[in-house]
Amino acid sequence: MTERERPHVSPGPSRSRAPGGALGVFGGRLRLGTILGFEVGVDASWILIAVLLSWSLAAGFFPARFPDLAVPTYWAMGIAGTLGLFLSVVLHELSHSLIARRHGVEMRGITLFLFGGVAQMGSEPQTPKAEFRIAIAGPIASVIIGGLFFLLSLGSAAASAPTPVTGVLTYLGLINMVLAIFNLVPAFPLDGGRVFRAVLWHMKGDLRWATRIASQVGSGFGMVLIVLGAMSLFSGNLIAGMWWILIGMFLRGAARKSYQQLMVRRALEGEPVSRFMCADPTTVSPDISLSSPVED
Ligand SMILES: [Zn+2]
Repeated sequence: MTERERPHVSPGPSRSRAPGGALGVFGGRLRLGTILGFEVGVDASWILIAVLLSWSLAAGFFPARFPDLAVPTYWAMGIAGTLGLFLSVVLHELSHSLIARRHGVEMRGITLFLFGGVAQMGSEPQTPKAEFRIAIAGPIASVIIGGLFFLLSLGSAAASAPTPVTGVLTYLGLINMVLAIFNLVPAFPLDGGRVFRAVLWHMKGDLRWATRIASQVGSGFGMVLIVLGAMSLFSGNLIAGMWWILIGMFLRGAARKSYQQLMVRRALEGEPVSRFMCADPTTVSPDISLSSPVED
């Protein structure tokens, strides 16, 4: 194992790299290794999510659908489901990354964070077509992966495989479809929002305008989630309500950050260095003491 591949926690180097800068706010990043030239890591927040998810699968989802199994079996299913989801999200992000690389967009790596994954782009796509293809690649991958898991679960049921195996495969089929659908919501910077921005960009040829509209819609969707979360909270559904509020706040932050980043990038892009330097600086001879130019 080389030094680069050894997993270790480092204080958030992904912070400024993520396309939606808000994604890195949770700090630490655990580096896992490299797939097809892309570095894969998990945000520290994902470890908490992994525990919560395993627990909610072991205590809620699996017992409700596959009753009369032993508690340790449910836990094994919960952990297998969480690892399967982890792999599914990596494959989703990997497909964004592969298409991005084909379109000449520099990719820095993949990080799984609190609400899923993010493929870290070093630059923005150059054309609406490239943006569209990069954005849609992830949900397409999730639909294909989900379909494969559904087929496997049907096959394992037909072959009378043990219930836990069929159960985990069914869950993975379902969760990949949920991943595809949630990411296709046209709320920038989610995949669907990027598709929406690509369409607007193609229509008017104005990336700045397209980004503004797409991030306003993204921000509005975030607000809807917060309101739904608050309603859910007041109706006594504490955990679901808090999740919706968190995701809504996250989306609003990410939408705003993505727009700001584009503005900064656009403002500096193509500007000659001379714009940021003094063309005719006053120089002094290296021999004279510092006090004389200051006094002069
Ligand atoms: Zn995606």
